[in-house]
Amino acid sequence: MNIDLHSHSTVSDGLLSPAALVRHARAQGVDVLALTDHDDVSGLEEARAEALSTGLELIFGVEISVTWCGRTIHVVGLKIDPRHPELAAGLARLRASRLERACRIADSLAAAGIPDSLAGAQALASEHILGRSHFARFLVETGRARDMQDAFRKFLTRGRPGYVEHRWAELSEAMHWIRAAGGVVVLAHPGRYDFGPALLYRLLDEFAALGGRGLEVVCGSHSREASQRFAELARRYGLFASRGSDYHGPGQGYSEPGRLPELPPGVVPVWADWPEVEAVAA
Ligand code: AMP
Ligand code: MN
Ligand code: MN
Ligand code: MN
Repeated sequence: MNIDLHSHSTVSDGLLSPAALVRHARAQGVDVLALTDHDDVSGLEEARAEALSTGLELIFGVEISVTWCGRTIHVVGLKIDPRHPELAAGLARLRASRLERACRIADSLAAAGIPDSLAGAQALASEHILGRSHFARFLVETGRARDMQDAFRKFLTRGRPGYVEHRWAELSEAMHWIRAAGGVVVLAHPGRYDFGPALLYRLLDEFAALGGRGLEVVCGSHSREASQRFAELARRYGLFASRGSDYHGPGQGYSEPGRLPELPPGVVPVWADWPEVEAVAA
């Protein structure tokens, strides 16, 4: 059973449409896929329709941007009802704030001698959410950066000319929206946060106390050692383990859907009691 519970489409900063993502994941051998676009659920219906004809089980998901202790972290909601009013309203608020942030990013780039980046990023983002990845692609396409990594390093990370501070959702409210919508909350890619151990343990304490259920133990940005470490932490905090590629499309530097190591022994998969997965296994 190949399960991948973290991926992106053109609804956020992925390069494939929801339908194309589902076809690609299926071709890579994925049996169960969660589409988890940033702060937006509008790709889920298209993805599910394609999943039905492709023979893949689609899990409705979302990846919510959170500000915690002055830092940005991401929580993934799985098995959500995308129409739940509290979730929908919360995500709409975050998307509006993304547009306001994008204007500040563009102003900041303009002050550094790079005009017109708002229109450039918007053209790459189609009608959906606007994120730093769209600015990064604009910077690459206009020759200001070699590739996405270079664009982030030179312009879009803290201390750089195109970086602006931003306030996302509170951890408690994002988790509340997901739980109100019937979903399971997973802390995304814990190895990507450059917290010291004390802050990480504090986050895990708070996350577990707020009803968090899973930790992304295996993901595109974890080494084998990191996965082992987060497997230990999942056990220590009574959390289930998740596995997700965070796939963003061809050439985006993330691992391919479904091509991740298995969960390390000794953890309980977050999908252990999911009827959707049992149905696929049968
Ligand atoms: P945003 O939510 O708009 O701030 O954008 C965050 C997204 O940017 C992440 O989900 C990644 O897809 C992408 N990203 C963040 N850091 C990097 C990086 N160093 N290189 C490439 N992509 C990155
Ligand atoms: Mn992204
Ligand atoms: Mn993320
Ligand atoms: Mn992601």
